[in-house]
Amino acid sequence: MDKILVNKVLKKLATKYGTPLLVMDLEVIKENYKKLINSIENSKVYYAIKANSHVEIIKTLKKLGSHFDVASRGEIEKLLSLGVSPKMMSFGNTIKKSSDIEFAYKNGVKMFAVDSEMEIEKIAKYAPGSDIYVRISTNGMENDADWPLTRKFGTSVDHAIQLVEYAYNNGLNPIGVSFHVGSQNYNPNNWRVAIREVSVVFEEARRKGIEMNMVNTGGGMPIKYSKEIPSIEEISEVINQSVRDYLGENITVIVEPGRSMVGNAGVMIASVILRSKKGEENWIYTDVGVFHGLTETIQNIRYEISVVGKEFVESKQFVLAGPTCDSVDVMYYDAKLPKNTTIGDLVVFYNTGAYTTEYGTNFNGISSPEVIFQNGLLLKQNLEYAVEEILKQSEKYDML
Ligand SMILES: *Cc1c(COP(=O)(O)O)cnc(C)c1O
Repeated sequence: MDKILVNKVLKKLATKYGTPLLVMDLEVIKENYKKLINSIENSKVYYAIKANSHVEIIKTLKKLGSHFDVASRGEIEKLLSLGVSPKMMSFGNTIKKSSDIEFAYKNGVKMFAVDSEMEIEKIAKYAPGSDIYVRISTNGMENDADWPLTRKFGTSVDHAIQLVEYAYNNGLNPIGVSFHVGSQNYNPNNWRVAIREVSVVFEEARRKGIEMNMVNTGGGMPIKYSKEIPSIEEISEVINQSVRDYLGENITVIVEPGRSMVGNAGVMIASVILRSKKGEENWIYTDVGVFHGLTETIQNIRYEISVVGKEFVESKQFVLAGPTCDSVDVMYYDAKLPKNTTIGDLVVFYNTGAYTTEYGTNFNGISSPEVIFQNGLLLKQNLEYAVEEILKQSEKYDML
């Protein structure tokens, strides 16, 4: 991506729409979908819509044939209202309200994730006969993921085996095992270790006469923020090889990308609204912050940042903070920004298509970023063309 060129367009868009603004590119999402489904053998893609549930994104993925991973009644209703078949949905949250299970079942959703006895009892009662898969935890890998998901979710291999049997005895249909290596995971070997553990559950279940042939590898595939990442193809190859090595033939592989489907399809633009000096610290405040979409900065997500028109200015360290009256609203205490960054500058946060607007609140009466689509803008091969088109359009707009 040519930053200077993209920033030029972003400046036009910021003038037209105001800030904060999230600019999304559906062409990038289409490319991500195709790359993933073509890289993993025998796969079905279930997009985890919590990453970004904008209707344009859902419509685009529906057209491509994507399935969807949902977590609540609200997400199911949204998909149903857009004409997505309930058969294309998996209720992947292991913590479901009974009333949501009942709603899902009555509307035709037939696949549920579990990691406990009580969840199985709820599904047996409110969604009898449904397909279930058991989520195992992926212990000891926390340090490879920027956003770990191992403690709250999943269970041990031994317990998973008991749960498969328990589900079966409660009239449910155990179809497979799932895991999630943690979001923004940098180590492909984590998928291999997890798939080997899945194979133990499969074998023990088979011994009890229960055949399963689905592995759900969750999400976790990384996108490029500040650190280097393994490619989707590289991780897919590890998954393909591990499925062959440990699980054998005729296995359906479900993948549930969230971040890797939409993260690199968005950029956020914000305005600097204040610069101040407190002792040795220089502070920059923008009109977007932790409560309005940059929530993931409070853990380990390090967005790449630039300031429009100051891309080549020498940088220095700032504290970069949001606009609200809450001291948690600080993105980075060690942000590197152009040394002359000041009021009115446009700050660009790259690769912010995932887990941004979904977290946005209305805290302090401040709105979260408006979302607009500029399809083709962030796609490498189309960049020159897209920029030309967009500039032409906005010049027309300027003349009005
Ligand atoms: C959040 C979530 C995902 C998506 O994870 P990413 O790391 O964003 O790809 C997939 N599956 C489940 C069950 C999830 O909760």
